[in-house]
Amino acid sequence: MFEPFVQFVRQTFGEPEGFIPLHEPRFVGNEKQYVIDAIDSTFVSSVGRYVDKFEEQIRDYTGAGYAIATVNGTASLHIALLLAGVERNDLVLTQPLSFVATSNAIAYTSAEPCFIDVDPNTLSLSPDALTEFLKTQTTLCNGSCYHTATGKRISACVPMHTFGHPARITELVEMCTAHGIPVVEDAAESLGSTYNGQQTGTFGLVGTYSFNGNKTITSGGGGMIVTNDERLGKLAKHLTTQAKVPHRWEFNHDQTGYNYRLPNLNAALACAQMEQLGGFIANKRQLASLYQTFFQDYPVQFVTQPAHSESNYWLNAILLADRTERDAFLTYTNDHGIMTRPAWTLLSSLPMLRHCLTDGGTNAQDIEDRLVNIPSSVRL
Ligand SMILES: *Cc1c(COP(=O)(O)O)cnc(C)c1O
Repeated sequence: MFEPFVQFVRQTFGEPEGFIPLHEPRFVGNEKQYVIDAIDSTFVSSVGRYVDKFEEQIRDYTGAGYAIATVNGTASLHIALLLAGVERNDLVLTQPLSFVATSNAIAYTSAEPCFIDVDPNTLSLSPDALTEFLKTQTTLCNGSCYHTATGKRISACVPMHTFGHPARITELVEMCTAHGIPVVEDAAESLGSTYNGQQTGTFGLVGTYSFNGNKTITSGGGGMIVTNDERLGKLAKHLTTQAKVPHRWEFNHDQTGYNYRLPNLNAALACAQMEQLGGFIANKRQLASLYQTFFQDYPVQFVTQPAHSESNYWLNAILLADRTERDAFLTYTNDHGIMTRPAWTLLSSLPMLRHCLTDGGTNAQDIEDRLVNIPSSVRL
């Protein structure tokens, strides 16, 4: 399968010889025009019409009531956790199979992650593992949920829609709500993916997106917080702009805020990218379908969108037989100019998180052993 795969990728991307990256951005719309316009306006920093316009585009696209643009997805998650009420020494439930930004944002609040396994079909937080954990290890008291053995409060749950494939988000939100746990959706990878027709990121109390250079659309660096709660929407804007009390000339701040507002220059790029999002996703879904057909001839599992969902197929993935075959595939493809990558090392194995609570994460471990991401850029 290795050599036919290399030939297939070269043919599909129309690249007979050169290096094929895992995911590169496409600037084929109004990007240059809008960025030049932002420069000409002199509004290149955190005030400007492109920032407002970008927030409006995200509200329109996702159906969220409020959208607040930030400097990156990690900053968005940090603020989202504060909005959910996460405090020092709390526990935050999340999955071990994620990018380190998820656990870093939790660490910024001085809370600690508690790792719950992923679902083998969605690759995202498992409602079955969550049920088991809540049933056997937690206690409800005055509407709040506590980890029985340590007495720590569980103040949020952060499911992540892995590689763009929606989690079983309705079940997760239902379960968390019944236990007084707010859901913060890390939808960094899943802009445009839907579950039962509803956009990922809009199911929980707060959701976050990322516009880093490797995501479906990019602003260079950038993030977005979405919520339907008016109070939290206003608080998000306040916290991301140094908690400055509005006034014509006075500088007053009523709490510790953050310099997290997205610059207008980045927002200009994002506005142009938003205009192409629908086309990008259609293109990516077509690529996924080509991969799916190709892999039917081989003993390899191509990861497809789970039930009830429509995925943006941000990063395509395959599951190989075991870690040995995975490593052989990674070596062969990267030796032949096709960039491929394993899943992240599980967060629960990282040195700064090794001591954290975990349910063992056997599905996550199996996926880490066998999964490889394959080239997924929008084709020209
Ligand atoms: C990309 C990403 C983020 C945010 O990353 P930034 O680079 O800070 O925008 C957060 N969580 C996950 C799972 C991601 O893939």
